[in-house]
Amino acid sequence: HVHVLIVGAGLAGLRCAEALRGAGHAGPVTLLGAERHLPYDRPPLSKAILAGTAPEETATLRSSSDLSGLGVQLCRGRAAAGLDTAARTVKLADGDVIAYDRLVIATGVAPRPLPALTARAGVHTLRTLDDARAIRRALGYGPRRVVVVGAGVLGCETAATLRTAGHDVSLVEPAPGPLWQALNGAASATACDVIRSWHERRGVATHFGLGVAAPLNDGDRVRGVLLDDGTELPADLVVVAAGSLPQTDWLRDSGVPLADGVACDRFGAVLGPDAPDVWAAGDVARVHRDGRSFRVEHWTHAGDSARAVAANICAAASHERTELPTPELAYFWSDQFDLKLQVVGDPAAADEVVLAAPEADTGRFLALFGARGRFVAAAGAGKVRAVIGSRQFLGGDRSLADVVAHWT
Ligand code: FAD
Repeated sequence: HVHVLIVGAGLAGLRCAEALRGAGHAGPVTLLGAERHLPYDRPPLSKAILAGTAPEETATLRSSSDLSGLGVQLCRGRAAAGLDTAARTVKLADGDVIAYDRLVIATGVAPRPLPALTARAGVHTLRTLDDARAIRRALGYGPRRVVVVGAGVLGCETAATLRTAGHDVSLVEPAPGPLWQALNGAASATACDVIRSWHERRGVATHFGLGVAAPLNDGDRVRGVLLDDGTELPADLVVVAAGSLPQTDWLRDSGVPLADGVACDRFGAVLGPDAPDVWAAGDVARVHRDGRSFRVEHWTHAGDSARAVAANICAAASHERTELPTPELAYFWSDQFDLKLQVVGDPAAADEVVLAAPEADTGRFLALFGARGRFVAAAGAGKVRAVIGSRQFLGGDRSLADVVAHWT
């Protein structure tokens, strides 16, 4: 029986294990996770769990008995520390060695550290359940002064959740506006402006175009940050949301090609001759196809890519392989205040944006993105039908003008 070892017991790892069983894989499946928790969902960590409006258990994706029912052996609280592709073994941090026939790398990403704000009391990041617990502990019975550094999707969402919970929140971002990367601010500054005004109207103090020059410390504890322009922002705690780095340290010296992620082909098979039967899925996978490469850090992509890898492990013949999803058809959402932001497609590809339906009073909007006249993405808040409905126009030759006319 073929033993599939999945390293990383997050969303991609779990979905891969489930899909292997769904596809009829009868051999042993081991799910190895560095965290001591059952596999859980991350989106609630910056939403209801951070707000304290939902118990932590609501994020759990599968119980122990579900997993044993599936015949999946979960090894939790155990980190992979090395890979020997010739011997087909993974070495664990505790010295144990696990042999595999097929290996799936699903170790996700970790928060990118900010050199100006090194670890000290009061400085937090938010990736894991333990991180969310630590932030909640630091908030105590509040209200607290919180500085959120980074106004990407995670930073904006964290700022919105903490502000809604009654904390005094400042948002600091070197880019000119929020979600600058996610919404391609260079092309869609107006869409970013709409989001900026949501935050400002709800009382978040925003500081765009400014970075953190230095922490303001009180012994071992941070008590604020000093911005590039000399502004001092006092803080009881600082949450750094400055992007993420693929968790690939354990693969150093393994022969697995690493360059901002694990390099794999369009089917998730790790590239190069040195890693036979090694696959990658989820946030850690950098997919190479058609002369370009991409890595997607969204919930939907994690599940879809993991299911594709499971199908490919089970595929009897290479022509039956399933491709990993591409950014052209990506989907993600973010809940900020009472608005659900949704994005389909690839705003990064756009050179033109039409703000189709801005509603200044409610903050609802629909932004439609084009590249050389072709429709490539839609983003919206409070526009579920239009954003989701725009998905059907992606990936083809539909013109931006056509899609704008369709929704206006
Ligand atoms: P992860 O979920 O990170 O899982 C990887 C697992 O591997 C981790 O548990 C890690 O501990 C483990 N691991 C790492 N190294 C090792 C090792 N050496 N040995 C063993 N185990 C290891 N996406 C959306 O589309 N919408 C949202 O609203 C949204 N909200 C989010 C909110 C937060 C706070 C966060 C952090 C992410 C959010 N995301 C959201 C992104 C989404 O959660 C991720 O895309 C998804 O979790 C990726 O799944 P993954 O399995 O690839 O990685």
